[in-house]
Amino acid sequence: LYIMGIETSCDETAVAIIKNGNEIVANVVASQIESHKRFGGVVPEIASRHHVEQMTIVFEEAMNQANLTFVDLDAIAVTEGPGLVGALLIGVNAAKAISFAHQIPLVAVHHIAGHIYANRLVKEMSFPLLSLVVSGGHTEIVFMKEHGHFQVIGETRDDAAGEAYDKVARTLNLPYPGGPHIDRLAQEGKPTIDLPRAWLEEGSYDFSFSGLKSSVINTVHNLTQRGETVAPENLAASFQQSVIDVLVTKTVRATKEFQVKQVLLAGGVAANRGLRKALEEAFYELPVDLVIPPLSLCTDNAAMIAAAGTVLFEKGQRAGMDLNANPGLDLEIHN
Ligand code: ATP
Ligand code: MG
Ligand code: FE
Repeated sequence: LYIMGIETSCDETAVAIIKNGNEIVANVVASQIESHKRFGGVVPEIASRHHVEQMTIVFEEAMNQANLTFVDLDAIAVTEGPGLVGALLIGVNAAKAISFAHQIPLVAVHHIAGHIYANRLVKEMSFPLLSLVVSGGHTEIVFMKEHGHFQVIGETRDDAAGEAYDKVARTLNLPYPGGPHIDRLAQEGKPTIDLPRAWLEEGSYDFSFSGLKSSVINTVHNLTQRGETVAPENLAASFQQSVIDVLVTKTVRATKEFQVKQVLLAGGVAANRGLRKALEEAFYELPVDLVIPPLSLCTDNAAMIAAAGTVLFEKGQRAGMDLNANPGLDLEIHN
C-alpha cells in the first residue's frame, strides 16, 4: 500500500510516499526559510508563489526517490488545513490534479493530525493515548481513544509555544525562525532569571504563553534602560525552563488522569532538546510508553501527512474534486 502525502500549509513545500503506513520510501521537503528570513516571519504571498514554483520539482524528486510510477500509488493524502489559505490551495490543487488525471483516490488530512501521526513512522500507536502538540501555531494536549479520533483536552489561550519562542528570539535579535537558536543558547546558559509560569485554574490543561513572552521583553527593556546587559544565554535558558516546566507538568498530570498507554510528542517545538530531555526524565519512572519522533519528522513534512492519510484511507475517508483549502479546519470534527 503506497500513499503519497502533500503538505503546503505554511512555508515548506513537501511531498512524501510511505509504504504500508509506516515505511518512508520518499520524503522531500523544500524549505522557504531563506526567503522569509529578511522579513522576520512568513509572508503569505511569497509562500504561495514559492509553493507554485517548487511543487512540480518536489513531486518529481519524491517519485524518483521512491522509484514508483502513478499506477503504484493507492491514494494521495493532502493537508486541507489549517494554515495559510493561499499556501494550502497549492497543495490541494496539485493533489486534485494528480487524483483526477490518474484516477487515484484523494484523502484530506488535518495538519495537526499529521504532526501527531509522525509518531506512527517511529512506533505503532497504542490506545488510549495522549499527544502533546507543540508547534508554530498550536499548543494542545490531544486525547485519542482510537485512530482518527481527536479530543482536545487543553489548548493555548493566546500564543502557541513556537510563536513564543520566535517572538522571544526576535527580542534577542536572533534570526527567524528563532526556536532552534533559543534551544542552542539555552544549552549554554543557566535559568538564573525568575520568569512566570501560567498554571491557570486548578485542573486546567490549557496553556498561556503571552505573559511569559511579555515578561521576557520587559526584562530586556528594563535592563537595557539601566544600561545593563542581559546574558542572552541565561535569558534563553530561563525562558525555556518556564515553557518546559508547564508543558511537562501538565502532560504528566493528564497522563495519570486519562490512564493512557502512550504519550506522543508532536510539532516543530518537539525538536527542542530541552523539552525532549525533560519529558524523557519525567516519563522514565512512569508505566507509559513515551514516543518522540526524530527531528526531521517534528517540523513540517509530508511523510506525517501520508501516515495520517493511510489511516484515514483505510477507514474509508475519501475527498472529492470539490475539496477546498480550509484555513480554520477543526481537529475534533474532522472525522
Ligand atoms: P502549525 O503546525 O501549528 O500549523 P507550523 O507548521 O508553522 O505551525 P511547525 O513547522 O510545526 O509549525 O513548527 C515550527 C515552529 O517550531 C517554529 O515556531 C520554530 O521556531 C519551532 N522550532 C523548531 N525547532 C525548534 C527547537 N529546536 N526548539 C524550539 N522551537 C523550535
Ligand atoms: Mg514551517
Ligand atoms: Fe506544522
